[in-house]
Amino acid sequence: MSSMRPDTRSAWLEIDGSAITANMYAIRERVGRQRLICAVVKANGYGHGAVFVARTVLAAGADRLAVATVDEAIELRQAGITAPILLLGEPPIASIPYLLEYDITPTITTIDFALTLGEMADLSGMVAPYHLKVNTGMNRIGIHYTEAIEFLNAISFHRGLKHEGTYTHFATADLIEDWDFKIQLSRFKELIDAMKLADIDPGIVHAANSACTIRYPATYFDMVRPGIMLYGLHPSKVTYGKINLKPAMSVHACVTHVKEPLVGEGVSYGLQYRCPGNVQIATLPIGYGDGLSRLLSDRMYVLYRGRRVPQVGTICMDQMMIEVDYKKSLLNPLPPITVGDEVIIIGEDGGDKLTLDMMADELGTINYELACSFGMRLPHIYV
Ligand SMILES: *Cc1c(COP(=O)(O)O)cnc(C)c1O
Repeated sequence: MSSMRPDTRSAWLEIDGSAITANMYAIRERVGRQRLICAVVKANGYGHGAVFVARTVLAAGADRLAVATVDEAIELRQAGITAPILLLGEPPIASIPYLLEYDITPTITTIDFALTLGEMADLSGMVAPYHLKVNTGMNRIGIHYTEAIEFLNAISFHRGLKHEGTYTHFATADLIEDWDFKIQLSRFKELIDAMKLADIDPGIVHAANSACTIRYPATYFDMVRPGIMLYGLHPSKVTYGKINLKPAMSVHACVTHVKEPLVGEGVSYGLQYRCPGNVQIATLPIGYGDGLSRLLSDRMYVLYRGRRVPQVGTICMDQMMIEVDYKKSLLNPLPPITVGDEVIIIGEDGGDKLTLDMMADELGTINYELACSFGMRLPHIYV
């Protein structure tokens, strides 16, 4: 990501650091001073740029960071970030030397991994911290909640291991219906109580993703793990209006080419769209290779001077076209578009806005996926 050169491309992401800071403050206000906040910056900070986001949230009071892969953790360490980093899953055993070298705390879900980690740490004269992941019903990863104590007893003898935390993850915290959520929460609480009865210190207890952080104080325990809300996005429509968040990502492009094809001329691959005449076709240097799904062809708008203008023709890998009907409205005509004019693909302009949520609805997916996709190839400009 750091090799991107923003000045070499006229399509880019703007990432608003002050929005991320404001979202962090909103989280701190929710959870109070006494709890730890572990900011989730996996998948390149949900596409926003992991190193920038990590620095911003740490400066705004985050206590720790979480990522999904060893590479993501190493990227943060190589950028000079020293805060504790939790891996949200158990990596391959072959990655253990990196965990020790870069001070990365893994999640543990198998005895094999735990004991190998302990052995290798001990050989280097170290004690490796780990967090135990408990499966309370999502059935993704983790030790089944009924087997967690037995699991801990099987590895607790090892002097190379330090049980630093115990956590679970909810499958339905963002749904209106809370039946399954409550079952998971009570299973997790039962386990924590049973651990304490058995004289096992659970360490830092944590469970809350963004939806829980917004909706369920009973899930806060010692630490919360917000992800999507850091970026100013809601985990689902259920949390709209329940907290004030500021979106940090906007998507921009400048026109590279303009023409006024004759009536009936086609545009883009397949020539699916045909010109009605008297319109401009402007080209933007952004396409599905930049995270703008091809499924949106002829089904999306961009903002040109604060007004919605339709995208037309098939979206290509690196480019797409828009139609500017500058002769349509006599009362409030659009000025003709010219090369170099900026349009907004996601963001606000002139009182109107296009959001990742709107685009996700159109596509039948979630804002999380779109933020990740836009983050993959477009250069990031941090403001
Ligand atoms: C991604 C993730 C989170 C953050 O979830 P959001 O819905 O983005 O807040 C928290 N915990 C775990 C285990 C995760 O995988």
